[in-house]
Amino acid sequence: MVRVIMLSPPGAGKGTHSRWLRLQTGAAHISSGDVLRAEVARGSDLGRQVAAYTERGDLVPDELIFRILAPAVVAAARDTGGYVLDGFPRTMPQALRAAQFGADLALTSNAVIYLTAPEEELVSRLLDRARREGRSDDTLGVIRHRLAVFARETTPLIDYYRGRGILLELSTDRPEADVQADLLDWLQARGLMPPAARRSEPDHAEPAGDTPVGNRDRPATTSLSNKPST
Ligand code: ADP
Repeated sequence: MVRVIMLSPPGAGKGTHSRWLRLQTGAAHISSGDVLRAEVARGSDLGRQVAAYTERGDLVPDELIFRILAPAVVAAARDTGGYVLDGFPRTMPQALRAAQFGADLALTSNAVIYLTAPEEELVSRLLDRARREGRSDDTLGVIRHRLAVFARETTPLIDYYRGRGILLELSTDRPEADVQADLLDWLQARGLMPPAARRSEPDHAEPAGDTPVGNRDRPATTSLSNKPST
């Protein structure tokens, strides 16, 4: 079963491809941003603390993140045997603590998907999403700040996971179906998904990420950061 971490700057498509992976694999999809926004919407004390950070585009402190997310990740992994972590970990302390946690509970991640796109493309996608969804942190100033926070706090994780031999780097500056085809090929080559895995199924609750995989004979445009180690 896949135990995947989605690592990507805001706007690169981690939500879209996480939802697609959930459909493909049955592994639980846990979006840290969604869990945090739900806590804010509940209006709890914890939610008020969280909102002070998310509204500015700053990272929520690691202690709060673990308090809120760890129970959800453990429960989901127990229920489905795997997970797709969308937005967590995103600091080195989070990654190291998550690795310890995973080792203790036999839930170690076996794949990290690093999604990339040019910065101006990221900004334009997020501004589009702001027009559709009105997320309070999708304003130009906060978007730029979130991208800077990603560069400072989260990019060190790329080399960390590359060093563990579990990183796949994928450009999302191309059709979703091409990204998904490359993702599927890589997971299958590593034995994380059966070769005959179902391609896609409509998910009416979450239409954004469910584009069926199209032409499998496309040119290979992926940058594979690590070849399968087995
Ligand atoms: P994006 O990736 O577009 O910034 P998310 O929905 O993943 O959107 O996250 C929204 C906000 O939630 C982040 O800007 C940050 O404030 C907070 N957040 C999400 N995940 C984490 C995390 N792992 N650690 C700290 N803060 C987080």
